[in-house]
Amino acid sequence: MTETKFCYCCRIHHDQTQMRLFPTRQGYRWRCLRSIEAANTSRKERDAFGQQQTEINREAARRAAEQSPLLRQAQAFAT
Ligand SMILES: [Zn+2]
Repeated sequence: MTETKFCYCCRIHHDQTQMRLFPTRQGYRWRCLRSIEAANTSRKERDAFGQQQTEINREAARRAAEQSPLLRQAQAFAT
């Protein structure tokens, strides 16, 4: 019989070899590597998404700044 531990994240038992002690607000609790890795991946993805969003905002601001003199010129030609 293989040793299992209760994973507080999945709320099921996993093989002990898959388990790591994980610090939580309630202290150290057993959690499986898979859920730890999944959490790390989603955090990285969130960070990447946040960076991408910052990049998009910066690009939009830059484009707006570039376009405003052109718009002024276009308006000057139109009048
Ligand atoms: Zn688990």
